[in-house]
Amino acid sequence: MKIPETLKQNKKSLFSFELLPPLKGRSIKEIYDTIDPLMEFKPPYINITYHREEVVYKKRTDGLLEKKTIRKRPGTVAIAAAIKYKYRDINVVPHLICGGFSKEETENALIDLSFLGIENILLLRGDPEHSTNRFVPEKNGHHNALGLINQVSDLNNGIYLDEELENSSPTDFTIGVAGYPEKHIESPNDLSDLHFLKKKVEAGAEFIVTQMFFDNQKYYNFVNACRKEGITVPIIPGIKPISVQNHLNSLPKTFNIDLPEALVKELIKCKDNSHVRQLGIEWAIAQSKDLIKNNVPVIHYYTMGKPDNVYKIAKAVF
Ligand code: FAD
Repeated sequence: MKIPETLKQNKKSLFSFELLPPLKGRSIKEIYDTIDPLMEFKPPYINITYHREEVVYKKRTDGLLEKKTIRKRPGTVAIAAAIKYKYRDINVVPHLICGGFSKEETENALIDLSFLGIENILLLRGDPEHSTNRFVPEKNGHHNALGLINQVSDLNNGIYLDEELENSSPTDFTIGVAGYPEKHIESPNDLSDLHFLKKKVEAGAEFIVTQMFFDNQKYYNFVNACRKEGITVPIIPGIKPISVQNHLNSLPKTFNIDLPEALVKELIKCKDNSHVRQLGIEWAIAQSKDLIKNNVPVIHYYTMGKPDNVYKIAKAVF
């Protein structure tokens, strides 16, 4: 079922979560071990992230560095299909990114997803490669999520890249996109970010999933700003439980977010990561209860492949 319809049909706030494909060489059992305990909270759908290849430098025996391109977490499309067929009541929302894809490769991935009966997708630009700080599209790839949305909208209208195709059948994808309550890191200001978010919705996005935030007021302000701008689609809050001391500095730097002072003070007091994990659970429970009180349609939890803290949060909240 289409995500916006699922959300409309439910009066209560729902539970959902995001999975990372396992590292290359690991088993899909890791995915099932993450999903199984969380089934108790009846997620209507599960997101599966996409990970582009990375350039790494390996030291050779002669001391020189050898450049290698590796994809550490392949398998997004296959995992989406495996989940769809193992857990029949759950929808899957695979992510697709611009980075590393030409338009032809994107089209082929979309055809695979369509044949698998996958109807919902989250379309993203992807981050710059680790070795650069500037997003570089593939030759004949998209520069931003908007280009990718336009391609999927075209396909939904039966317009493929090869204009000579005859009797081409339209796909039926429902498109979700990312939104940033604290602004995307590269955006010059909030208004500009909102302007491009609106463009994504006008191009066909039917729901928005937010970047993680730790202060709910930032989410409420963002939703209000979107509504004022005429963005009416569901805006799904993304919650990540803090789990290691290092998050104190790595999360603000990586995701362009602020940690509230009250959380920082408590984090600094933690003696080890088991205390941090407990604090992260308690903070996320408080955030979740407040979001539910404010009637959010669903909460999207970032599991990062470790479901135990999300399980404890869901147990306390749903
Ligand atoms: P865009 O919407 O393309 O925006 C990127 C920047 O360009 C913004 O600053 C925006 O304001 C600006 N912009 C947008 N459109 C235009 C335009 N037409 N002209 C000029 N500027 C423009 N990354 C992954 O690699 N894999 C994942 O699975 C993944 N999942 C994610 C899930 C969620 C919920 C979120 C919030 C992020 C996820 N990301 C993922 C990270 C995401 O790829 C990065 O945040 C990326 O830097 C931006 O992606 P976007 O789709 O928001 O980009």
